[in-house]
Amino acid sequence: MTDRRLSGKVVIATHNSGKLREMRELLAPYGIEAVSAGELHLAEPDETGLTFIANAYIKAKAACDASGLPAFSDDSGLCVEALNGDPGIYSARWAGPEKDFSAAMAKIEAELAKKEAKEPSQRRAHFISALSIVWPDGEQIEVEGRVDGTLVWPPRGDAGFGYDPMFLPDGHTRTFGEMTSIEKHGLPPLGLGLSHRARAFTMLAKLCLAP
Ligand code: IMP
Repeated sequence: MTDRRLSGKVVIATHNSGKLREMRELLAPYGIEAVSAGELHLAEPDETGLTFIANAYIKAKAACDASGLPAFSDDSGLCVEALNGDPGIYSARWAGPEKDFSAAMAKIEAELAKKEAKEPSQRRAHFISALSIVWPDGEQIEVEGRVDGTLVWPPRGDAGFGYDPMFLPDGHTRTFGEMTSIEKHGLPPLGLGLSHRARAFTMLAKLCLAP
């Protein structure tokens, strides 16, 4: 456990505009000035880790080393139970160089069809978000959040990003693609802190963000 607080200027170590938007919204109430790795033209490191936490650390460490600023990163993905956890840490790669998530969702659906997974109980999935903060003196924090649900087909809604339109979180009737950003990841009192990223962020805030 660290008693380090995150404040001032921070690099958000992502080149993914959807994640950047969500992470900025999560950090905004804490008065943190967030610049992105993309805006600083930082190179994207190879994600060679075998876990979400390992890859989150690789990204935050690389951005911290390159910028000299504390760096905040997310490594996340969708794990489909019937597919032994795939695409998991390869969630971005399933969309190919074109970042075509319609194709990535169709690929998941094709794999589920091969297994004749039609019932909701056969279509269980969860999103994971590992968040990492690395400070220039080497101090680091990692946390992991998760949200469970089922996969619908066809995809529904065009809000959010990535696999949101096919993910129906447990206890809800609308997919992440049909929810507003406040519904998906808004923290209390505005929202329920529903998403994997919001849940991980809530843990992180307790550890190192001023109330
Ligand atoms: P990475 O963490 O940059 O390697 O990429 C994770 C990938 O997982 C993203 O490109 C998205 O496709 C997917 N993903 C992560 N979080 C979400 C989310 O909140 N909604 C939808 N897709 C997500």
